[in-house]
Amino acid sequence: MIQINELPCALLITDSTGQILNTNLELLALVGQSSLQCHAQPMTTLLTPAGRIFLQTHVWPLLLHTGRINEIYLDFSDAEKLKIPVMVNCQKRDFNGSSHFYWVIFVAKERSCYEAELLLARTQAQQISRHLEQAHAELKVLHQQLEQRTVVIQSENRELADLSRTDALTGLSNRRALDTAVNHWCAQAPSEACAALLMVDVDHFKTVNDLYGHGEGDKVLCALAEQLRLSMRSSDLAVRYGGEEFVMWLPLADRKAAGKAAQRVHENVRQVQVAGKSITVSIGVATAYNTPGSDLLGALTHQADKSLYEAKASGRNRTVCAD
Ligand code: GH3
Ligand code: MG
Ligand code: MG
Repeated sequence: MIQINELPCALLITDSTGQILNTNLELLALVGQSSLQCHAQPMTTLLTPAGRIFLQTHVWPLLLHTGRINEIYLDFSDAEKLKIPVMVNCQKRDFNGSSHFYWVIFVAKERSCYEAELLLARTQAQQISRHLEQAHAELKVLHQQLEQRTVVIQSENRELADLSRTDALTGLSNRRALDTAVNHWCAQAPSEACAALLMVDVDHFKTVNDLYGHGEGDKVLCALAEQLRLSMRSSDLAVRYGGEEFVMWLPLADRKAAGKAAQRVHENVRQVQVAGKSITVSIGVATAYNTPGSDLLGALTHQADKSLYEAKASGRNRTVCAD
């Protein structure tokens, strides 16, 4: 028969009121008391105040109900009233009409330390998670601001690009836009395709400025720009080439089509009047085929300029087409 003092754990026997009936040496060593001090005392004297409350409110009711408890954590206290975390199992045994309760007690100091470390680690992990969530929310706001800024910059860039291709006074395209349009056409049109260019110059425009002022001259240029717009197809491009000189770029137009376009310009320009009198324009027309490696725009403007000179020299208000 094994003696209770030989067992490798602390042992406590109580009655059903929690009165200590017996202990082993291991338990006495654990709580730092003698068997005389313990005997006939309530077992609550061996516990911390918190341990007592837990024992009374939770452990005893469970034990009296089921007759057994397993792996319950309690806080015992030693002779210096320092806390000893323990794990207990208890089993009820009936002897001659009275009940004895056998308490097996294991010290759980290390487990308690691990638990504390785990709790600390969990708290730290929660903090990190909160910081991450905060940083994520801040990043989201920054990302939204960046997207909004990007949209604004893209729209500003588009506006700038449009401005860089537009004549400020008339709103027509400028020479840069003409360069781009002609180069683009040359790159994608077949090599035998024909294109035309009209150089349109206001006749005696200096007189308009001299007689009615520069402001009136500007209005004439804007009204002329509008008539050029109305004279062209959607695939054509009307350009303010400089001063009172305009260019009309007619892709896929031959000499005949270019002549007709020039005629339309002469007719429409009648709508532009100063002091009740219509202005007139002189037009030089040039046509050329798309030849790989050639300077189509240079050739067309050179030819159209020569034709325009001839139109001026031969009396103005007319069109001359280069041969
Ligand atoms: P021509 O029939 O030979 O073309 O005679 P012109 O008077 O039209 O030509 P000229 O080259 O002698 O004069 C052009 C005038 O256009 C001179 C210049 O002051 C004027 N001009 C150029 N740009 C502008 C502008 O933006 N606004 C105004 N109001 N006048 C301009
Ligand atoms: Mg002129
Ligand atoms: Mg001129």
